[in-house]
Amino acid sequence: MRLQRTLRRPQFCAGIGLHSGKKVTLSLRPAPANYGIRFRRADLGGLEIPATIDNLAGIQYATGLRCQQASVDTVEHLLAALVSLGVDNVVVELDHPEVPIMDGSAAPFVYLINEAGVKTLPVARRYLKVQRPMSLSRGDKRIALYPSDHFKLTYSISFDHPLLQHQARTLRITEDTFAEQIAPARTFGFLKEVEMLRQHGLALGGSLDNAVVLGETGVLNPHLRFEDEFVRHKMLDAIGDLALIGYPIIGHVVAHRAGHALHTEFARKVLQEREAWRIVEAPETSPLGVPLPVGVERPAVVN
Ligand SMILES: [Zn+2]
Repeated sequence: MRLQRTLRRPQFCAGIGLHSGKKVTLSLRPAPANYGIRFRRADLGGLEIPATIDNLAGIQYATGLRCQQASVDTVEHLLAALVSLGVDNVVVELDHPEVPIMDGSAAPFVYLINEAGVKTLPVARRYLKVQRPMSLSRGDKRIALYPSDHFKLTYSISFDHPLLQHQARTLRITEDTFAEQIAPARTFGFLKEVEMLRQHGLALGGSLDNAVVLGETGVLNPHLRFEDEFVRHKMLDAIGDLALIGYPIIGHVVAHRAGHALHTEFARKVLQEREAWRIVEAPETSPLGVPLPVGVERPAVVN
């Protein structure tokens, strides 16, 4: 059994919203067990938006949430960092309706969480353990979830661009692999799309400081952080979007050419397919002969 965790102490940062271009202050604060991850709009008298799929609002170029009168946009990179570092309960307070983009990756949020430190709470963490495959496809985009003893992610992308014809990666996601191999990968976009986005009032805060921009033949930024930074960023987005399921996943996610729309539609579908998973309190199979604590379902042995 693993215990739920929260932050040891509050942490703050400031940045700009990728789409609004406005300055925003973000603070992460400790929260009690079973509180989950909730956004709190300090500028709206503290209205709260729990990070659940029921509150999904927008999926255009970023993932947004809404609850009653309050909304928050571009939540996916922060959510990915929180769930990957095992922060189950936290208040994310903002004075603006968009999470700051920082450098376009989740690395600044990993830093913030590490600075805060984590604290265990005396309540078991609950996982969603996949029992049967689930899948969803829209045209040539697809995503699936298979039984596995760990949270693993396989992602592949292909774009009509010389640098991005094919990138694929598989990784078992742990705190360390996320922090080292996924979190630093930045948001990317195509130069020809930037003007269109701006005409729609989006990407107003975007620059080479917070996004990898692709021109006709190459990257406009001085360098990439990884040769396959693009597919790693898609993995980051998928982890953040699937965090809206509300439980850490024990299973293998396989996605091809997906994006926020498909990730979040799949998150909703997974929760609806109640026969395909179980909620368990133990992330790994208990050694044979060792009884699990009372009330804990024995995870099925798979793979
Ligand atoms: Zn992203």
